[in-house]
Amino acid sequence: MAIIHCPDCGSQVSEHADICNKCSYPIRKLKASQSIGNTQSDMQNVSVPSPASNSGLIVTGYILALLSLLFFPILFAIGGVVVGVVTIGKGATGHGIAHIILSIVLGTIGAIIGAVVWTLFG
Ligand SMILES: [Zn+2]
Repeated sequence: MAIIHCPDCGSQVSEHADICNKCSYPIRKLKASQSIGNTQSDMQNVSVPSPASNSGLIVTGYILALLSLLFFPILFAIGGVVVGVVTIGKGATGHGIAHIILSIVLGTIGAIIGAVVWTLFG
């Protein structure tokens, strides 16, 4: 049977006691609130990185893929693929694969458009 110190008067109390036998401090309530507090901190510890922390990266990947259609297709396509790989590494696998596919497809289209425009107007 463990002995704890009453947080109110400091006297030694059995941990199984409902109240302190000296000052009637509610020991049982104290233990209940402590165990709730522990449960909450455990939940915070196991929480995985929130999707919001990846959202900037995910948006960046899509922007790079779209830009590869319009400007410097090879440059932005490579950027989009790199961001896609990083995004997969962060756990957002679906978005990462979408980045890579979009970057390659849009970069290829962008390169073809660029070549056509150069041929016609360059
Ligand atoms: Zn007490």
